[in-house]
Amino acid sequence: MGSRGPRAAKSRWLHHQRVKGKVIQASGFPRGFVLYLLYQSISYMKQPLDPRNFAHLFFAGRSRITLVNTKRETHIRLKIKEKRERVNGKLVGTGRFYLYTSILNDGDTGWQYAAVFFKDTYRYRLGADHQQGSQIHRVSQFVYDALKSPEILTQKGVELHHEGRCCRCAMPLTHPDSIQLGVGPDCIHHMPESFFIDLVQGKLTLV
Ligand SMILES: [Zn+2]
Repeated sequence: MGSRGPRAAKSRWLHHQRVKGKVIQASGFPRGFVLYLLYQSISYMKQPLDPRNFAHLFFAGRSRITLVNTKRETHIRLKIKEKRERVNGKLVGTGRFYLYTSILNDGDTGWQYAAVFFKDTYRYRLGADHQQGSQIHRVSQFVYDALKSPEILTQKGVELHHEGRCCRCAMPLTHPDSIQLGVGPDCIHHMPESFFIDLVQGKLTLV
């Protein structure tokens, strides 16, 4: 099913809904489809995330983001986890985010440590196993460039997709708004205002 990709899902985003006796075409996920998604755990059958939120999602804490290159029909999976340390008995974030990539697309195996990213500058340090100019290096550099200038995602036809789990706590997302944003209803309170301002305005600008 995973090979169907986001394109295959596109036609499902519009569905017909009866409002005050009239059948209208509605956007968003019908409830049954959300449940279907949940049970099937299908990763890619959803709308792309807002590319302007890339840095917010990348540095949310426990994200899994798939970069889908719609022009070349390729994708790369990213797993990003913040290093946490115990300070006075409490676990606190360190601002260092470990990036793992799965380029081979072989399910949950094949994750490779790529680089550590620093939230304050977006800079990264490539893992010692990787050569300059290697594919992992190019991926890390692309991530850095996209964190700095998310518009390059749109320019290069790269869509962001989460995997149905909250980018902050990794719990499954169930509410359509949460699915659209990539962050659950509890974690949304920990995201900066700029993250969900479009939702507040009742409009999500999707590319
Ligand atoms: Zn969460």
